Amino acid sequence: MKRLIKNGTVVSTEAARKVDLLIQDGRISYVGQDLAFEGAELIDAAGCYVMPGGIDVHTHFNINVGIARSCDDFFSGTRAAACGGTTTIIDHMGFGPAGCSLHHQLDVYHRAAAGHAVIDYSFHGVIQHVDEAILDEMRRMVEDEGIASFKFYLTYGHKLNDTDALRVLTRLGQIGALTTVHPENDAAIAARRTALLAAGHAAPIDHARSRPLECEAEAIARMINLARLADDAPLYIVHLSNGLGLNYLRLARAAGQQVWVETCPQYLLLDESYYLREDGLKFILSPPLRPRSELEKLWAGVMDGSIDTVATDHCTFPYLQRQHMAQGDFSRCPNGLPGVENRMALLFSEGVMQGRISVSRYVDLTSTMPAKLFGLWPHKGNLAVGADADIVIIDPRRSHTLRHSAMHDNADYSPYEGMQCQGMPVTTISRGEVVAHEGQFTGTAGAGQFLARKPFDMALVKQSPINSTFGV
Ligand code: MN
Ligand code: MN
Repeated sequence: MKRLIKNGTVVSTEAARKVDLLIQDGRISYVGQDLAFEGAELIDAAGCYVMPGGIDVHTHFNINVGIARSCDDFFSGTRAAACGGTTTIIDHMGFGPAGCSLHHQLDVYHRAAAGHAVIDYSFHGVIQHVDEAILDEMRRMVEDEGIASFKFYLTYGHKLNDTDALRVLTRLGQIGALTTVHPENDAAIAARRTALLAAGHAAPIDHARSRPLECEAEAIARMINLARLADDAPLYIVHLSNGLGLNYLRLARAAGQQVWVETCPQYLLLDESYYLREDGLKFILSPPLRPRSELEKLWAGVMDGSIDTVATDHCTFPYLQRQHMAQGDFSRCPNGLPGVENRMALLFSEGVMQGRISVSRYVDLTSTMPAKLFGLWPHKGNLAVGADADIVIIDPRRSHTLRHSAMHDNADYSPYEGMQCQGMPVTTISRGEVVAHEGQFTGTAGAGQFLARKPFDMALVKQSPINSTFGV
């Protein structure tokens, strides 16, 4: 099938140009003015932006968190992603049985995704214990399996101590993989949670009180310094929620260190007052939502370039299940928010249409930088000739109200219910096929392909020091 996208404004990180795109065999085959092609299906993008499809590098589909399994699998999760303008996801694997190999979870995830995903996908490896066998296995994961990034946690059941964090950072840096970290200080959280619960403070707002932003910022600062000590290993911080942590990252970058950071729409748009609502359990996630004053600090980072990517951390547990499991105690509620369908619209509306960022910066945050950091460039995050025809068409004239009833995940609510978005992803194209149009899913289960990713390439993402006002 050949398709011709005409009359739109094609956006890259460099420019926004009125050009047409010809798609053949799932790839961009021609870019130019006033293209015509016999027999091609015409897509009229007049008045719209034509952008690289969204790359969401932080999802948890089908994850088993021990006390529960999330309700979105690789079909419903990628279907929702496609309907929101996202054409690639990289899922963070959950923990496996104690002592399992890295390949154990990779096999589990391949089985969960193959035949189900509607858009392309890959996985981040997960490090849940460290020994010589695991350190040896890492290279095979990178070179033979295309898993070019890994995550470890500083809290939860399989947290790593500083000894093991140093070993992992050093090893991954040596073999061309990017280390990603969930940074929260486990000891501080445990002490606060115990004290709160002992005093009878178990409401949703106490979830936020049990893990204040200093818990996160401390762990970010620690990881930055350990990465420096680990022969300058490249480091990527997931789901940043606060300005103090961002300032530590800015300091590191000003000193020439190669560190990158992701935030999520929930941290840019929702604050901890949501925990005071009657349905506050809907917003339990970690790190928690923060005081309103943190939101503008994160936006400043989005605007000045010190935040590199926006992902969702999509992890769905229905409200009914949350209520049933929590029984009035926040510490029993499974953690995570849905949102994979809403990231592109929310960031376009609040970022581009509110005048905070340019369309080029939007493309970088949502697609190009994720592709470069995680070994997918230049086939993904790019609308040049030869790249995969993964495209989102966004109409800035269209406004819509987010309603879960119109979304495509398996949750029973949206944290963004009722929010107004100016600008709407109207068409999503994956490898040249239209997988969503006007909010309707038009794709096919199993059409998504596993993406074996290339090793981390510093040359693609090397940063210049950020020239920004600290502490804005
Ligand atoms: Mn996390
Ligand atoms: Mn996560």
